[in-house]
Amino acid sequence: MILARHISQTYESAGRSLTVLSPMDLTIGTREIVAIAGPSGSGKTTLLGLLAGLDLPATGSVTIDGQAIGSLTEDQRAALRAEKIGFVFQSFLLIPTLTALENVMVPIELTRRPEADTRGSPEERAAALLDRVGLADRLDHYPIQLSGGEQQRVALARAFVNDPRILFADEPTGNLDADNGAVVADLLMNMNRELATTLVLVTHDPVLADRAARIIKLRGGRIVSDTRNPA
Ligand code: ADP
Ligand code: MG
Repeated sequence: MILARHISQTYESAGRSLTVLSPMDLTIGTREIVAIAGPSGSGKTTLLGLLAGLDLPATGSVTIDGQAIGSLTEDQRAALRAEKIGFVFQSFLLIPTLTALENVMVPIELTRRPEADTRGSPEERAAALLDRVGLADRLDHYPIQLSGGEQQRVALARAFVNDPRILFADEPTGNLDADNGAVVADLLMNMNRELATTLVLVTHDPVLADRAARIIKLRGGRIVSDTRNPA
């Protein structure tokens, strides 16, 4: 569960302060699937960064699973993200010097429990997820040896490898052609359902937004609508 109370964001630019998110309240329930939609520059990525604890708001507070983000140190916030949160970004953000398998293992190494558990060793867990996204035969490929769609599937495997409670995806299909975008969107929705993750998805693709149970529309840094799709 994510509770955002009166959060806003302001940036300083050329000596002037620019409000990019006006104060807003938002509650996202456990296992909810929410799309954040709106034109470019409307504040979607800024809002995602605040809800995920990547950034701190100028005003207000964010609570993730009962932990008030503002009262944590930077290290504690990083630990909370590592344990509970998965990320997928528009530009994949794989580490170019690591193989697909090694990229997927990175989040495991960032947690306090990088040892083998009931699901196997970190390597086995990473390989199982790469198999789930259809890349069992690409474990040793470097990002440069993978297509965009394949890179984003590696990023999806990486996002799910720690069994996150919440997944944040920022325009996950934005850099992909229609066919690869559809594959990634299907995997995202299906894996989210299988793993019972809360999903907060930023997209300006109306087809993808329509697959969410709830759509929050932003314009000029404000919520202009918050509606539920009929099931
Ligand atoms: P969206 O994801 O909807 O395209 P963003 O949240 O990225 O929108 O950006 C909202 C506005 O905030 C834009 O006008 C952008 O230029 C501005 N902005 C975003 N990040 C920063 C920053 N770090 N410093 C200054 N302005 C920023
Ligand atoms: Mg954005």
